[in-house]
Amino acid sequence: MKTSDIVVIGAGIIGMSAAFQIARRSKARIVVLEKGAGPGEGSTGASSAVCRFRYSYPEIVQLAKDGIGAYRHWPDFIGSGEARARFHALGVLWLSADPDWAGSEVDRLGSLGIRADALDDAALADAFPAIRPCLISPDLIGGEAHDCRGGGLHLLERDGGYMDPVDALQDLIDAARARGVEVRFNSPVDDVDVEGGAVTGVRLVGGERIACGTVVETAGPWCLPFLERHGLGGRWPLEPTRIQIVHIDRPAELAGDLPVCVDMPGGIYFRPQNRGQQIIVGSVLEEDEKERVADPDDFARYADDDFIRPKLHALQHRLNVPELRGAIHGYSGLYTINRADMHPIVGPTPIAGFHIANGCSGHGFKLAPAIGALIARQITGESSDFDTAMDPAFLAFDRQPIQLAAMNVLA
Ligand SMILES: Cc1cc2nc3c(=O)[nH]c(=O)nc-3n(C[C@H](O)[C@H](O)[C@H](O)COP(=O)(O)OP(=O)(O)OC[C@H]3O[C@@H](n4cnc5c(N)ncnc54)[C@H](O)[C@@H]3O)c2cc1C
Repeated sequence: MKTSDIVVIGAGIIGMSAAFQIARRSKARIVVLEKGAGPGEGSTGASSAVCRFRYSYPEIVQLAKDGIGAYRHWPDFIGSGEARARFHALGVLWLSADPDWAGSEVDRLGSLGIRADALDDAALADAFPAIRPCLISPDLIGGEAHDCRGGGLHLLERDGGYMDPVDALQDLIDAARARGVEVRFNSPVDDVDVEGGAVTGVRLVGGERIACGTVVETAGPWCLPFLERHGLGGRWPLEPTRIQIVHIDRPAELAGDLPVCVDMPGGIYFRPQNRGQQIIVGSVLEEDEKERVADPDDFARYADDDFIRPKLHALQHRLNVPELRGAIHGYSGLYTINRADMHPIVGPTPIAGFHIANGCSGHGFKLAPAIGALIARQITGESSDFDTAMDPAFLAFDRQPIQLAAMNVLA
């Protein structure tokens, strides 16, 4: 029987961040087991990978700051000048119907060390002529035009942007392997072995057993069986949820740079993709995060017409072009939502040696390097550069639900 110190279940962005962060600070023998044939078969492969700092709670702003800090200094973080992934530092622009919102958010974020500015309409037109400043919600059903009303203030997170998610994952796999981590694909884990309240190993489908004292379960939308079989399932209502994305060609007549944009009146976010040739559009509405998926291996991979249409009306309203033309496509991915409070559960569980990072919802990509640091510090007791300053109690398994004004991805 093979023996290891630590087994990580799932080579998504969270599992690989944890494995890499442990390897950066210890000599532990680490095996990462991934059921897929290659990187990015779970949430990470479908991720929009938007890296924004604005969250409701200072603890998550801190976690986002620490996670995005690693992406912004990616070659230093992974310890290689040959990174595939790149941080696209376009800024994250937020439009709100509330004219006072951006001003107060600039102050709040500034007090947490985040560079943010409030742009009036003239400053917005100067920085991003492609974006219309209208404060009125568009007609999402019929796409009926209205007389737009500007005059608001718009929040710009200067250091936000997005990352190439699968490239980042591959970089982490390479960096972890370079530090001695064994990353195995086509290696589905059947279960975790627990004896006397402590982890003793894992069993793979096919019968192979690896003895270990520590397991980090980061199986993304496949996490539930691991929790339920060991009495950990009832504590948090975790739901694998179908999430849809639309993408269109960037209109040729659209002027200037596009930022990552969170358009709250329109209920969408969007960003450039594919060297700026395309625009991907997702939702920030609670109603679009409702489709629980019973089997994460079996869900509709396309986007529905009644999802696509309103998102295009919203995009049309926000972009400074007469008409959106060209082919329209869509796809769906999954992420796991913690219905109690939209926030992840990270850290040790009541079973000795059984650590989890689940329920990362639409936040997990940006937070991953910092969540990895959190787990690594808890397991090894060691700190390192690219650590996180967030208090681990905030996301702990035995915490109380966090109170939120709105139960959506903007949490
Ligand atoms: C459409 C979409 C848009 C998103 N946009 C953003 C965004 O803009 N910004 C942001 O920060 N986050 C975003 N997210 C969320 C983010 O991508 C996820 O929170 C994050 O990728 C979760 O990573 P993970 O490693 O936990 O899960 P996953 O990437 O799903 O990794 C889990 C891995 O475990 C493997 N696995 C499962 N079961 C087993 C088993 N039994 N044995 C071995 N391996 C197993 C799976 O194959 C998978 O590769 C988005 C997600 C989606 C779907």
